[in-house]
Amino acid sequence: MIDILNKHIVVAGAARSGVAVSILLKEKGAIPFLSDISEIDNSVKERLQKNNILFESGGHSSKAMEGDMLVLSPGVPSTSSIAVHYKDNGKPIYSEIEVASWFNLSPIVAVTGSNGKTTVTSWLSDVWTKAGKDYIMAGNIGTALSEQVKSTSPDSDLLLEVSSFQLDHISGFHPSISMILNITPDHLDRYNQNFQAYCESKFRITENQNENDWFIYNDDDTVVKNFAKRLLNGKNHPKMAAFSTEHEVPNGAFVRNGQLMINLDNKEESLMAIDQIALPGNHNLKNGMAMALAARASEIRNEFIRESLKSFEGVAHRLEKVRTLDGVTYYNDSKATNINAVWYALDSFNVPLTLILGGRDKGNDYNELDSQIKEKVHTIIAIGEAKEAIKKQLGSVVPHMVEAGDMKEAVKLAKKTAKRGEVVLLSPACASFDMFNNYEHRGDQFKKAVLEL
Ligand code: ADP
Repeated sequence: MIDILNKHIVVAGAARSGVAVSILLKEKGAIPFLSDISEIDNSVKERLQKNNILFESGGHSSKAMEGDMLVLSPGVPSTSSIAVHYKDNGKPIYSEIEVASWFNLSPIVAVTGSNGKTTVTSWLSDVWTKAGKDYIMAGNIGTALSEQVKSTSPDSDLLLEVSSFQLDHISGFHPSISMILNITPDHLDRYNQNFQAYCESKFRITENQNENDWFIYNDDDTVVKNFAKRLLNGKNHPKMAAFSTEHEVPNGAFVRNGQLMINLDNKEESLMAIDQIALPGNHNLKNGMAMALAARASEIRNEFIRESLKSFEGVAHRLEKVRTLDGVTYYNDSKATNINAVWYALDSFNVPLTLILGGRDKGNDYNELDSQIKEKVHTIIAIGEAKEAIKKQLGSVVPHMVEAGDMKEAVKLAKKTAKRGEVVLLSPACASFDMFNNYEHRGDQFKKAVLEL
């Protein structure tokens, strides 16, 4: 572990994990200094004062630039001036999860990927609960690891949702089980538009693993599959388990004759029929396989895995069924903030669709959705800043393209266009900040409008 006693440690970014890691560092004997280029909320300031943590807001002073090391909140990019300064001066930069992991006592099950992290992490918590196994859940999914690390112990597992930003600055972070669900372009603004750099950051999840550990990966994803090959050719690599919904794999999970099969250590078993899995969509079959493999690697019995596959209902704002009205079913997929998530949402339905799309554009190529749209979507309702781009790119792909000024109007228009037996889907492919506080706010507004119809 890195010596932190009495060290001047600068934490950049006063959001949830920045504050949590400052408090942790203080408790462990370091001298943290929290610096944020924006204003810090009064409630956060009060919390910092209560914990005797020095801080500044509205910019980085020379004190912030002169730390022994820098801890980056996931919200602060590696390209920010403060990170570049530390890098140029050869001083270490760590992520919040790295620092918190120095004090962790639990075996870590770490989930990363472009999409599905929250779904799989909560699915893990479901199967762990069913199996009566102790766990703590932390990371992107809710509370920062720094806040939870006190409660870790060798007898309980740490189920951790990890973003690429957190992986960018690890050093000793060592999961017993790591998982990459998929890698598709997202957050490239934080990686100088360099997809390879984003991939390499996700791959780091295995870098401290050894032959006693597990790596679970998506064999249908070319990027991930190629990485797994590379890993396999190296020394002391973790035990590998693949999952695929497209072909059989020699070690891992796959489908044969409608059955979910698990083949680990040359022992092949049929777990259950895939149509008994509660969550719809091929992506959720993949997510369920990832969950099942992690559970098996943790010696959870098949009966609990089956139970969890049959009953887990997913997480709000991820392809969440809102209601059926006049034979039309409304789904809230507000968390679909990139094209790939929308692709899988569309892939989950076999009925004609009205799709509400738009928000703050991240430079999307909407035409990646062309074939799904041509097959299933008769109306797109475009909202938010992305309206123009959507109209331009998809106007000739979909029979009806309409615009709405707000969510209420979008839902009313959707009611008019959708017929009995059809689906209305909010799956925006964009960030929400142009019209809403966050994706939850957007999803809640959609649900409210649907329930008021
Ligand atoms: P994350 O935590 O990685 O953002 P979520 O579980 O919150 O992932 O899901 C985000 C969006 O991605 C939702 O729209 C969800 O329906 C979709 N999604 C979930 N799992 C997958 C997957 N394996 N592949 C593609 N999209 C997925």
